[in-house]
Amino acid sequence: MSAPDLTDAERAAVQAVLHTPQLSFGPQTLAFERAIAELTGARHAIAVNSGTAGLHLCVRAAGLGPGDLALTTPFSFMASSNVLLYEQAVPVFVDVEPQTGNIDPELAAQAAADLASGGAAARRWLPRRGASGSAALKALLAVDVFGQPADYDPLLETARAHGLKVIEDSCESLGAAYQERPAGTLGDYGVFAFYPNKQITTGEGGLIVTDDDAAADFMRALRNQGRAPGDTWLEHTYLGYNYRLDELSAALGRAQMGRLEELLAKRQRVANWYATHLEGLPEIEQPFIAASTTRMSWFVYVVRLPKGSDRDGVMKRLEAEGIPTRPYFAPIHLQPFMVERFGYRAGDFPVTEDLGARGLALPFSSVMTEGQAAAVCTALAGAL
Ligand SMILES: *Cc1c(COP(=O)(O)O)cnc(C)c1O
Repeated sequence: MSAPDLTDAERAAVQAVLHTPQLSFGPQTLAFERAIAELTGARHAIAVNSGTAGLHLCVRAAGLGPGDLALTTPFSFMASSNVLLYEQAVPVFVDVEPQTGNIDPELAAQAAADLASGGAAARRWLPRRGASGSAALKALLAVDVFGQPADYDPLLETARAHGLKVIEDSCESLGAAYQERPAGTLGDYGVFAFYPNKQITTGEGGLIVTDDDAAADFMRALRNQGRAPGDTWLEHTYLGYNYRLDELSAALGRAQMGRLEELLAKRQRVANWYATHLEGLPEIEQPFIAASTTRMSWFVYVVRLPKGSDRDGVMKRLEAEGIPTRPYFAPIHLQPFMVERFGYRAGDFPVTEDLGARGLALPFSSVMTEGQAAAVCTALAGAL
């Protein structure tokens, strides 16, 4: 489905770390953080050992605790909701825009207003069980789906009106821009991820950006076993974690950051090939780029099959030709433990479910050739 894009620069960078005694918390981590701070213009960049860990620290920084509510969407990777559950907070799902798959800002505004007014109006946004109608809405966790920023201007207006912290899950959107503003910097905190299928990789890894000095200090402490500035190795001011990124991973990430423009351009080129070779297949819906997206950072290439088509059959026929494809995303609210805990049912979030049922991620990476993209499209036409 994807492949990392590595050169001798990355190999040499990792090798060089092995010639030093410092394998964690050293110059590579600082340089990697600096590179992303420069890219985004954020005051603080905090490297962690996964995107999920980064999102979890943002949930802590936002002050979410047991029973607190956060607006988010069920059309995402599981981790964006799990990080709320880690703190016993409750995701309040709102459905997504059909074209982009990003959170629908009008629904988010309506949900925030209804939750503030309480009673029956609030109840209709809450899950059937597992949430209290009198709980406080404290945050909005938006996801930049498939490398495209959500529609932040109206979302930030809602957040301001209701005093919500905004967490930006930019794990799929490193390098993207919304109205010329860098993805990751649109809310109070933004998080990038570096699993091997992302735009750049560290093996495993993630990074938080924020302009909030106090939150940055707090999250730096939490990633390092709760050691506040001035704490010794065995002093722990807070309940923390080992969410540190190691130096080998940071060196890899730093070398990849040196190639970011090249990598994003190569991904854009592959997306263009797909768009061209899919032109002859009008029944296939291609990815939609909103006008507010001033730079797309292609993470995956997800097309939508026509309503009622046999996606499993299409996938099987493609697999038989050696072409892997995947459903993407599977709706979060229908995952077994979410159903058990909150009582969700099929039909609760129709747009998410429709996108989930028809979406098909095609093989995608910066190392693909035009011949491969063309072969995927030919096979897809046959399979349909
Ligand atoms: C990749 C991803 C994450 C988490 O990343 P990990 O580094 O695998 O923990 C979170 N949210 C979204 C939307 C992602 O795509």
